[in-house]
Amino acid sequence: MPQHTLPRPICGHCDGFPIVTITTGTRTADGQRQTITANCPACYGTGHTTTPRVHTRIGA
Ligand SMILES: [Zn+2]
Repeated sequence: MPQHTLPRPICGHCDGFPIVTITTGTRTADGQRQTITANCPACYGTGHTTTPRVHTRIGA
C-alpha cells in the first residue's frame, strides 16, 4: 500500500506555523477585530519544506 503522506521536514522559514493571523487594530462595523492572514512565502502555507523545484524556462 503506497504511503501518500511522506514525512517532510518542518519549514525553517515559518517553523511549522505557515499561517499567521495579524490583527490590524481596526474594528469592523460589527465590533470585531479585523484580521488578515498571511501565508508563509517559503512553503505557501503548508508548514513543510517541499522538494525544491527549479523552474527553468529558457526562451519563451
Ligand atoms: Zn513556511
